[in-house]
Amino acid sequence: MKILVLNAGSSSQKACLYELPGGILPEYPLEPLWEGFLDFTHQANIAEAKVKTHTGVNQTLEIPITSRKAVTETLLQTLWQGEAQVIDQPTAIQAIGHRVVHGGEQYRDSICITPEVKAEIDRLSCFAPVHNPANLEGIEITEAVFGQAIPQVAVFDTAFHATLPAAAYTYPGQYDWLEQGIRRYGFHGTSHRYCAERAAALLNRDLTSLKLITCHLGNGASLAAVQQGISIETTMGFTPLEGLMMGSRSGSVDPGILLHLLRTNQHTPESLDTLLNKAAGMKGISGITNDLREIIAAAEQGHDRAQLALDMYIHRLRYYMGAMLAVLGGLDAIVFTAGVGENSALIRAAACEAFGFLGLKIDPEKNTHHEVDQDISTPDSQIRVLVIRTQEDWAIAKECWRLTHDRL
Ligand code: ADP
Repeated sequence: MKILVLNAGSSSQKACLYELPGGILPEYPLEPLWEGFLDFTHQANIAEAKVKTHTGVNQTLEIPITSRKAVTETLLQTLWQGEAQVIDQPTAIQAIGHRVVHGGEQYRDSICITPEVKAEIDRLSCFAPVHNPANLEGIEITEAVFGQAIPQVAVFDTAFHATLPAAAYTYPGQYDWLEQGIRRYGFHGTSHRYCAERAAALLNRDLTSLKLITCHLGNGASLAAVQQGISIETTMGFTPLEGLMMGSRSGSVDPGILLHLLRTNQHTPESLDTLLNKAAGMKGISGITNDLREIIAAAEQGHDRAQLALDMYIHRLRYYMGAMLAVLGGLDAIVFTAGVGENSALIRAAACEAFGFLGLKIDPEKNTHHEVDQDISTPDSQIRVLVIRTQEDWAIAKECWRLTHDRL
C-alpha cells in the first residue's frame, strides 16, 4: 500500500512516500521510497526543491513561485516524472496523510478527511494562524492532484495531549476562557506519542507500565509527561510559544512583561508576536543565531551572551523536566529526540546531571557515540535514558494505514 505523507510548515513543505505492507505493520520504521522538501525562503520568488529516492537519486530544482499550490504540485509531479520517478502514475497512491497542527478540543484522534473536517480545520485557524491554513492548503492540493476519491487522513499535533486532566489544561485566568477554547492544547503530539511507543519497544516493556518524560528538542521544543501511554502534562500550551526556551521562541515569560511592552508603546501586538516567535529565545539572548551548534561553538570561544543563552537553555530544560517528574510522581525513562535531543551529547549530559540524585547515570561513551534509537544509561542506572530518532512522517503513514487499509 503506497501512502503519501504531507507535512506543511509556515515556509516549507515536506512530503514523503512510503510503501507499507498490506497485512501487519512492521515494528520498525521503513525508509521512504521518495522524499521531497520545499523551501519557500530560498530566494525571493524562487523555491528550492530537494528530492531524493531510496534508489539514491538526489535532485535539486529551483521552482519559480507563482503560487504555493503550483510549486507544491511541481514537487509532487516528480513522483511520476523525471529522474526521481518512483511510481507510474498518480493513481498508484492509495492514501494520503496530512500533519495538521491544531485539532482543537474535538479531535482527540486522527480522522478521515471530509468536507466537515476541512471546515473545522479552517475554523481552528484562529488558534494556529500560520499552520492550519498551510495544512488545509496541502489537503486541497492533494485533492486536486490525486482526485477527490482518494482517502485522506488528518493527524493532529494536539491529539496526543487530549488526555490531559482538567487541572493541567485549564489556565488560572477566568473560567469563561475555557468556553472560548482558551486552554492548554500542547503540540508535537505525534512525536511524543511515537517516542513513547518506541521507548516501550526498546525497553521491552508494556507502555502501560511506564512513566516517561519525552523531550522533543528541535527549533521548537516541548516536553511531555507520559504515564500508561497517556500524556498527562506538557510544556507547550494554548500556542507553541509556552514552556521551554527555544531557538527563536521565548518560551514562558511573565505575562506582565508583555503588558509592560504594550502599555509603554514599545510594541504592537503584531510586533510582539514577531519578537516572541522569531527574535527571542537563544537567538534573542545570544544575538547570534537560533542554531544551538553555533551557540555552543561561540560559547567555547568565550562569547558571553552565547554562554548565557546556553546556561539558560539548560536551566530551563531542567526546570521543566523537574515539573514533569513531579507530575508523574516517578520515572522509568527519559527520551531525547529531534535536532538537539538526538545530536547534542552536551545538552543530554547537562540535563541528566540534575537527576543524578535519583540514581540516574548516563554512560559518557554511549552518550557521545550512540547509534540510532539507543539506551545511553549505564546498566546500574535507576532510570533509563534513550535517544530516539523521531519519525513523525512514519507515524503519520501508520495512522493513515490504520484508518484506511481495510477500506481499500
Ligand atoms: P525543527 O524544529 O525545525 O524540525 P530540528 O528538530 O531539525 O528542528 O532541530 C534543529 C536544531 O537542532 C538546529 O537548530 C540545531 O540547533 C540543533 N542541532 C542539530 N544538530 C545539533 C548538534 N550536533 N548539536 C547541537 N544542536 C544540534
